[in-house]
Amino acid sequence: MSEEKKSLNFIEQIIEEDLKKGLNPEKLRFRFPPEPNGYLHIGHAASICLNFGLGEEYKAPVNLRFDDTNPAKEEQEYVDAIKKDIQWLGFEWNKELYSSDYFQQLYDWAILLIKKGKAYVDDQTSAQIAEQKGAPTIDGVDSPYRNRSVEENLELFEKMKNGEFDEGSHVLRAKISMKATNMLMRDPIIYRVLKKSHHRTGNDWNIYPMYDWTHGESDYIEQVSHSICTLEFKHHRELYDWFLDQVYDNKKTRPKQREFARRNLSYTVMSKRKLLQLVEEDIVNGWDDPRMPTISGLRRRGYTPKAIRDFSETAGIAKRDNVTDIALLEFHIKNELNKTAPRVMAVLNPVKLVITNYPEGKEEILIAENNPEDENAGTREMPFSREIYIEREDFREQANKKFFRLKLDKEVRLKSAYIIKANSVVKDENGEITEIHCTYDEDSRSGSGSEASKRRVKGTIHWVSIPHAVNAEVRLYDRLFTDEAPDSHKDKDFKEFINLDSLNIIDNAFVEPSLKSAKIGNQFQFQRLGYFNVDDDSTSEKLVFNRTVPLRDSWAKQNK
Ligand code: ATP
Ligand code: MG
Repeated sequence: MSEEKKSLNFIEQIIEEDLKKGLNPEKLRFRFPPEPNGYLHIGHAASICLNFGLGEEYKAPVNLRFDDTNPAKEEQEYVDAIKKDIQWLGFEWNKELYSSDYFQQLYDWAILLIKKGKAYVDDQTSAQIAEQKGAPTIDGVDSPYRNRSVEENLELFEKMKNGEFDEGSHVLRAKISMKATNMLMRDPIIYRVLKKSHHRTGNDWNIYPMYDWTHGESDYIEQVSHSICTLEFKHHRELYDWFLDQVYDNKKTRPKQREFARRNLSYTVMSKRKLLQLVEEDIVNGWDDPRMPTISGLRRRGYTPKAIRDFSETAGIAKRDNVTDIALLEFHIKNELNKTAPRVMAVLNPVKLVITNYPEGKEEILIAENNPEDENAGTREMPFSREIYIEREDFREQANKKFFRLKLDKEVRLKSAYIIKANSVVKDENGEITEIHCTYDEDSRSGSGSEASKRRVKGTIHWVSIPHAVNAEVRLYDRLFTDEAPDSHKDKDFKEFINLDSLNIIDNAFVEPSLKSAKIGNQFQFQRLGYFNVDDDSTSEKLVFNRTVPLRDSWAKQNK
């Protein structure tokens, strides 16, 4: 922990209490338990930063445990992607573990439950079982199979395991109570028949353990001291403890489940199931589409591990459900890139500008600062010539006083170059401007120290020299959803709120020649426009940039 004492979040307070009560700090152990059924998202980052952060703070091991008990939805691709993302965030797990490694142990413990008279095989359909569940204020009904003998249960469970029963025909249930106020305690299912091949155990098993049975027992096997999960598992805690009671040996650490609020982010959805729909229905271009709230999407978009970790830290850990403003995430990446990203010039919507008093054929090399926020960033060379591109939006024939860019008969400064004055325009047959004719003040070069160079003009605009410009594709992203909480509407599907303009591809942008050598992943500030990075699709023939985040947020304005 840093020198200045930071305030503890409530999970840290629980741990501090436990230590005070005598828990040996060497027994502290945490885990991050993803189900490999999708890619990690920014919500998972909250849990990763929390668990691995506790590991760093208390010098305790943190396991990466794949919670892989549902072979129908899980794949090796997801395992690989999850590992890559955690490493990229900068965290190191102690052991890579799989719930499926415990299938035999979990099975043996299930036999133990049966022998203790605390579990039974139920032959009913899931519909019948559901019907008998009752309601919080109405007692459930005992299954007709609830009082089977231990021998019969052992025999049937063995048959389930050996694949002698069809899917859905038999389950193993814990024998707790059909009258419990907590519905989850009403004889929950521990095992189901599932004849699917598992990504790690192949066809070894015809039965698979349920989440509740697996999770707590896996924590116990790994001797996790604090098992931190999200709020929706609060009611599961009683069952978690009941399952532990059945196998607990009091010389060992007894894991403790504690819950915190899920991270929700405005203008996006955060469930793997929903994100998978976006991928499968080609609404986005894969899990790492830069518009996705996945770690891989954010990485491709130009987000850095530091920005994501800083965001997680500031957003904090809450006890109640809430929605974090996506602007906070954007703030952190802007804040970081402001300090680290070299400034360059790029023109996204070019119009040609001719400096009529600049000698034809002349070229000069101007010197531009790489990053005014970083005195070690140095300078770079910017070729200048008679013909340049500027942004079409930076010129108007006529405009009011608030328009500080270029207009006829008025001056602006070309960034890191000269002051120019617009004199006339050339238009095509549709009335569209094809050329702007200007003159420049030869003595006004930035940094030359001359009187004219110090002359103040209202506006500064960016530019790229036409003979030196490098053609590029630029991808501008907007929010993927038009609604702040797309999955919160009872009568509407979240996909009804997809923003149809979330991707705008500009294939004819021009960037300054220093970018010719830019590599995939490199990050820049396109001056006056925003932060951009080189996309994975970039080739030596064609540079492709993603806009990570604009300098200013135009969303708020548009949607007022
Ligand atoms: P999803 O609903 O997106 O599929 P999940 O909870 O099923 O999420 P898991 O792979 O089971 O995903 O989650 C791994 C860990 O990450 C769990 O401990 C879970 O509680 C935590 N987690 C998942 N989503 C969030 C979130 N939005 N905010 C905080 N923690 C989360
Ligand atoms: Mg899950």
